[in-house]
This record gives sequence, C-alpha cells and structure tokens, in this order.
Amino acid sequence: MNKKKHTGAIIFFSLLAGVVAVAIAYFGVMFYVNTGSFIPPALANLPADLSGAEIADIKVSDEAGNSESTDADESVSGGKEAASDESLSDAEKDADKKKATATPKPTGKAKKSKKKKATPTPGPTKPEDVNDISTHDMTQYLGEMPGEGSDIVSTATAVYTYEQMVKDLYFLEQRYSGLFAYETVGVTKDLRQIYAVTLGNTNAPNHVVIQYTVHSREYINSLLAMKQIEYYLQNYAAGNTYGERSYPDLFANFCLHIIPMANPDGVSVSEIGIDSMRTDSAKGIIQYCWESDTQLGRTAAPLETYLLTFKANANGVDLNKNFPVGWDGYTDGVPVPSTDCHKGVAPASEVETQAIIKTVHDNPTVAVISYHSAGDLIYWNYGVEDENLLEADRNLAINLNNVTGYPTVVSEKYDWHLAGGCSDYFMWEEGIPAVTLETGNGTCPLDISAFGPIWNANRDVYALLAAMYG
Ligand SMILES: [Zn+2]
Repeated sequence: MNKKKHTGAIIFFSLLAGVVAVAIAYFGVMFYVNTGSFIPPALANLPADLSGAEIADIKVSDEAGNSESTDADESVSGGKEAASDESLSDAEKDADKKKATATPKPTGKAKKSKKKKATPTPGPTKPEDVNDISTHDMTQYLGEMPGEGSDIVSTATAVYTYEQMVKDLYFLEQRYSGLFAYETVGVTKDLRQIYAVTLGNTNAPNHVVIQYTVHSREYINSLLAMKQIEYYLQNYAAGNTYGERSYPDLFANFCLHIIPMANPDGVSVSEIGIDSMRTDSAKGIIQYCWESDTQLGRTAAPLETYLLTFKANANGVDLNKNFPVGWDGYTDGVPVPSTDCHKGVAPASEVETQAIIKTVHDNPTVAVISYHSAGDLIYWNYGVEDENLLEADRNLAINLNNVTGYPTVVSEKYDWHLAGGCSDYFMWEEGIPAVTLETGNGTCPLDISAFGPIWNANRDVYALLAAMYG
C-alpha cells in the first residue's frame, strides 16, 4: 500500500516536472521568437548598388546590437552571418546560442548515447567501402550529360548534391578537356571527397583560393561555385573578354583554386537527412548532435526538421570555429558536437579545415575568399593592425564590392565569442588578405529563387580576381 502510494507520488511529480520543463522551453522559444529581431536595421535598408563607391563599411556589429554579434554565426568571416533569420528554427538557434553562453553540460542521457556510439566497431575506411560515387566508372553516367548547347550545371534546384557535383565535374572535363583540373584534397569522416578545382596557369606567381559551403545549410553556394567554374570555361573556350582582356589572356598568368563543397558530409545531412550518412560513426554523431542539442535546449525540432538547417560536419564540428586562430580563448561555444558553435577537440582537428589550409599552403596564395550565406555582404578587416595587410585586404574588398554590389563590412577582431574562423585565421596567422562573401537574402537553406540575384552579383568574380592579381 505504502509502496503503491510512493510510486504514485513519483509518477505525479515526474509528470509535473515534465509539464513545467515543456512550458519553460515553450515560453523560452516564444520569447525569442517575439522579441528577437534578426534583421539589423542597417541591413534591412541596404542600398541596392554601391558600385564605384569608396569603401564605406556598414557597421553590422554596432548597429545590429548584441544579439546579432553574439550570434557569431560566421566565426570565420569574423562576422556574423548577417542572415535575416526569422524562421522559428533560427529563432530557436538564437536562443540556443544565448543559452550556450552558459556552457551547459549535456545531460547524462546524451552522454550515454555518445558512449554507446563510441563502442569500437570496425567500419568502412575507404570511399570504395561505401560505394562513393567518386569510385564509380563515370562513363556509366554519360547518358545524363546535357547535350552541346545546354549548360552542364543545372540551376533547377538549390539542393545541389555531392553526387551531382561529382558528375558535373566529370561532365565538364568531358566538354572542356584540358582547360581545367580537379583533385582530391581530403576524404571526410563519411568517406566523401573534398575536391579542389584549378583554373588558369599553375606556374603563375599569384594564386587565389576560394572555398564554399563549410556550413552545410549554405549549399546554394556550391551550386554558385560550379556555375562560376562552368561560366569561366565557357568564356575561356570562346575567347570572350572581361573588360579589355580575353579570358585566356587574363588567366595566362594567374591561378585559381576552388573548393566548391568544403563540407560534403554536412551538405548531405542538410540536403538529404541522416540516411545520407553511410558510416555508423557519422550517423551516430549526427544523431548525438540532435539529442544533445535537444537536451541542452538548443532545439525543440524533430530530427528531420533539425537537420534541414544543420551547419556542422559529420563530427558535429562547426568548421568556421575550427581554424587555429583564437581557438583556445573561444569559450562561448558548445562543448559537445552540435549543429553549430562546437569548435572541435583541437585547432584544425577536422579534415575539411586541413584541406582548406593545405590548398593555401601548397600554392603561392595571395588571397583567400570564403563564401557563406546570407546577407549580401563582404566582411573584411578582422581587426588586423598591420597597415600593408589591411591595405591589401581593403583593395580586395573594394574590388569585390564594385563587381558584386555587396557592401563592405568591417569584421572585428576574434574574441571569446567569435574565433576559429577561416578569414580571421589567414589574416592573423598567415598574413594573407582574406574576405568573406555572404550571398543572398533570407533564411538558410536558401531557395532556388535566391539564386538569380546571387548569380548576377557573383558571376564575374573569377575574372575580376584575374584582372587584379594576374
Ligand atoms: Zn556560414
């Protein structure tokens, strides 16, 4: 009898605790939904075209207020992804980041699931083992190749997959044999290839490295990269001009290295879901990210919805927090694998980060460009004090502003809530001019309707760089 009463009380109080927890979570999210304005006034009223303008940086961090700057979405860019994030999931994220400031520990349950996944099970170790498309005989796909007169890279959908990219690289090679090259610069946790495409003269003294989509849900930029590559090849093959000079002339003494999809595992998660992971270890980490973020109050979304806006790699590491700049001092993140803001177990611990750094180191790199979304902005500066470096970075930012129409924004120096970014790293640690372009307007993942304006702004960027550095 007593025992029964006791059990009843436990059930009652457990239920009560559950109801209270749900109510707190709900009102917490609603508070941020109702009060958090994620469009800084300065960004909502951007001038459409600042072409030819002197550098006139708009001050995002000043005007956006603390909520945006502590967002630190774009660690690398040193900037905040100036996203006009208004969706519930982004609102949740903002709330999440605020909570993350307190560096919460995951609950026992989340820890337990991690432990369970850590059980050593011999798994696939090579792309062949998971039947990755890069290991296929590509001639079997030739029937899918668009005919002469049609573009190879299709803009029918923004969901540009890793598999489509591998096919398109092959198709472009068929059509434009000898005009470009591509190679693997890394193999990911889930055994996908990280490709780097080379355009121009590899013996040229000045090379520029451009990387896209370290943040999974920004995959529209991988489509942009592949369209830019095809556009270059079309113009080069036809001998077309940019300004006064032909493409062959522009690129006779210049070289570009393009990493069109720096985080193919994360892109696959964001585009397709958890079933896109072929290895148990990657699947386990992705599942853990969701469980942990749920436990930490960073998301209330079901798994499938949560993954649509996934930003990290298959280790749950935010690659734009993983670069070796201010890494130790970055204490504002999430201490465990997560969709974002987890810096990893060590500086440059991730193969994707290493692939970008290696591509820069393997070449005489004079500038590094990172593509992110969203905001229609160019971040530069990063609080660097070296005048020569700042001047070179300013020059790059102004020229890109002239071509894209995107306003320039001074990104401040990395700190405890904003570190580990790609552009910050190359500026601070390697003295290489670096900028971050934030394409598009709206909430990531951006819809294909965002692509037209992104394309119009960015299609001449490669030719511009050749004109600048060639
Ligand atoms: Zn990003």
